Amino acid sequence: MRLSELNTGERGVIVKVNGHGGFRKRIKEMGFVRGNKVKVILNAPLRDPIEYEIIGYKISLRREQAEKIEVISESEAKRVLSSNENLQAIESTDEYLENEMTTLAEERRKLIKVALVGNPNCGKTSLFNMASGAHEHVGNYSGVTVDAKEGTFEHGGYKFLIVDLPGTYSLTAYSPEELYVRQNLIDDVPDVVVNVVDASNLQRNLYLTTQLIDMNLRVVMALNMYDELLRSGDKLDIRQLGYLLGMPIVPTVSRTGEGIENLFDTIIQIYEKADPHLARHIHINHGAEVEQSIERLKALISKTEDIRYKYSTRYLAIKYLENDSEIEGVVESLSNRDEIIAARFEENARIRELMGSGLESSMVDAKYAFVQGALAETYSPSGKRKSSSFTDKIDAVITNRWLAFPIFFFLLYLVFNGTFIIGEYPMKWIEWIVGHLGSFVASVMADGWVKDMIVDGIIGGVGSVLVFLPNILLLYLFISLLEVSGYMARAAFIMDRLMHRIGLHGKSFIPMIMGFGCNVPAIMATRTIESHKSRLITMLVIPLMSCAGRMPVYILIAGAFFPRNAGLVLLGLYALGILLAIVAAKVMSRFFKEDDLPFVMELPPYRIPTAKSIIRHTWEKGRQYLQKMSGIILVCSLAIWFLGYFPNHDAYGSVREQQEHSFIGYIGKTMEPILEPLGFDWRMGVGIVAGVGAKELVVSTLGVMYADDEPVEADGTPEESETLGETRLQKALVRSVSPAGALAYMVFILLYFPCIATFIAIRNESRSWKWAIIIAVYTIVLAWTAAFITFRIGSLLML
Ligand code: GDP
Ligand code: MG
Repeated sequence: MRLSELNTGERGVIVKVNGHGGFRKRIKEMGFVRGNKVKVILNAPLRDPIEYEIIGYKISLRREQAEKIEVISESEAKRVLSSNENLQAIESTDEYLENEMTTLAEERRKLIKVALVGNPNCGKTSLFNMASGAHEHVGNYSGVTVDAKEGTFEHGGYKFLIVDLPGTYSLTAYSPEELYVRQNLIDDVPDVVVNVVDASNLQRNLYLTTQLIDMNLRVVMALNMYDELLRSGDKLDIRQLGYLLGMPIVPTVSRTGEGIENLFDTIIQIYEKADPHLARHIHINHGAEVEQSIERLKALISKTEDIRYKYSTRYLAIKYLENDSEIEGVVESLSNRDEIIAARFEENARIRELMGSGLESSMVDAKYAFVQGALAETYSPSGKRKSSSFTDKIDAVITNRWLAFPIFFFLLYLVFNGTFIIGEYPMKWIEWIVGHLGSFVASVMADGWVKDMIVDGIIGGVGSVLVFLPNILLLYLFISLLEVSGYMARAAFIMDRLMHRIGLHGKSFIPMIMGFGCNVPAIMATRTIESHKSRLITMLVIPLMSCAGRMPVYILIAGAFFPRNAGLVLLGLYALGILLAIVAAKVMSRFFKEDDLPFVMELPPYRIPTAKSIIRHTWEKGRQYLQKMSGIILVCSLAIWFLGYFPNHDAYGSVREQQEHSFIGYIGKTMEPILEPLGFDWRMGVGIVAGVGAKELVVSTLGVMYADDEPVEADGTPEESETLGETRLQKALVRSVSPAGALAYMVFILLYFPCIATFIAIRNESRSWKWAIIIAVYTIVLAWTAAFITFRIGSLLML
């Protein structure tokens, strides 16, 4: 009986909760767990919700929810008791009745509804016949099973009610068979779905599986035709595939009945949730952009609370975005339908702009990419039966054991070189424009601190960061090329095994590489990593990747102190960053206790990217970067300017003296005791403080700080300018710092606090200040320690 059918005052014992996973979970959290007693407080025919008492609490349920809960009622128990003659004499006491209800509920629970779902000709009917002993017609052509056939089977103390559904390749609303299967899964919700899969044709069969995953049902996979898989010599890691898909997989040969006992044992385990590791609910990842559309639609659809009882809202959102005609009907009935329709329209347009194809085909692609990725990790066909699609052929080269890494590093080399070589031109133009804008503004404004603020603080400060925009855009352009063509997914795939050794995933690799360009977009790129743990660790180690902004500091100092080995020093610094990132990732992955669940690395089909889609992609990312960062950069530039300008702006003759007596000078001097063991003087400390805004600012700050250090030239005239050019700054540095201290300084610049923009990006992406602050603290501690060690060892070696 259904819980909704109980009358006011009547009691019942819960047998089970039907419906999709999300619904069952919510209802169970309210206490509607099997075996619990429930009493109806008020159930009037036209009243909704109905009021219940369960485990001492009063709870109201919508009628639709109560319909999905199966119970044994008092009246059912009484009927059984009264039919038993021996017991008629005994007064049916309350306790007696309750015991009987519980017993009946337990018995009823042993009836499991199973639905067989799979492609045509995968062996469903054979399996059905083997199990039920019925002799349905088995035919080797599509469409033999027109209607659903039901049969029963007993095994392991349970009784199974099996439905053989028509074979389908997918669960769209296009054909009557597909609609029929869907209806059965949604309206009659079987306790367990058996996804029958033809092991000799996995790629096509698993597509349907991805749709079952969307529906959030309890699924067991029968890997049928297992005999043929064995015969072909192909290798399949069944356990791993099961992990990736989140469902148990049982090999079967339904022609002979092999594996069927095992299959039903597994069905019982899933039904009884005997082993929580046997199954889990996963989401097919449709890629960051499409997922954003799904989330938006899901949120809108979820506004109608009642819709959740029948459908998983993620499933609804996905199907609606796929233009599923039946789900469109469901959405039409919602009160906020206009909003939802408009949202789909917008999202479709957005995705079409970005990817060059609409949501529907993007989602089909994503599902195939998921299947392809899952199989690439678990399945290796024997030499005999090589598939020869375009994508497979390219993959054979690109993921080849010997060629994969050389190809990969060659492409990386092209990307970075391309970024810097091509980027230099627009960089010069921006420098020129900023310079001229500055002098123009300076010439039209009246002298005073407002003018200084605008010229030096805003134009100069923002300009010094803006020059890196071409580099960043170019990097995005190359990355978009690699991404849209499908190569990036392969790169992640190739790196996966190596990355696992340090507790990360293949997908962490791309953001880390991007970190060499600029840490900010790298932090944003971690969005593609599903695992929360991996994503956080990746964000935590990205600041150790030496970004382009640190490069000018190395060039200045390495050129001054180690002119003959500058390249080696540079390489050493990059290597140190990578080494420490590896160590840090390893250490941090110990701290996270979170289960590290495996997930599929999607392998989308290769595409030749269109110019339009690449430009859109790049622009979209560049825009995001600018939007997020422009405000922060402005604020920081102003702050640094303010600290360097006040107080005492007019009290001293030279800029150097003024800086020394400004806030930033005071901070630098206060820091001296901390920096002294590293071999730095207070002026270098000021450089460090300025570098908090952006590491590019270190060099220009040092230029100001060492301006007074200029010795009188041979002709007797001291340096005119207030800041030093690069070579003279280098000379000044050599005079005041030891080589060991200089080396330590570069190490410090490499490792300490990335920059405000990165800090904010981490705060935004991790959605907590906690992680941003942790990064700030650990990088500073790491930088000090590493610089200290460098200075000590360096002093011993170089004196
Ligand atoms: P359905 O369309 O999914 O119901 O598939 P059928 O049960 O009608 O089976 C289609 C064909 O596959 C029949 O010729 C079966 O004999 C054959 N078949 C079913 N299961 C197996 C199996 O495990 N191994 C092999 N080799 N053939 C099978
Ligand atoms: Mg059939």
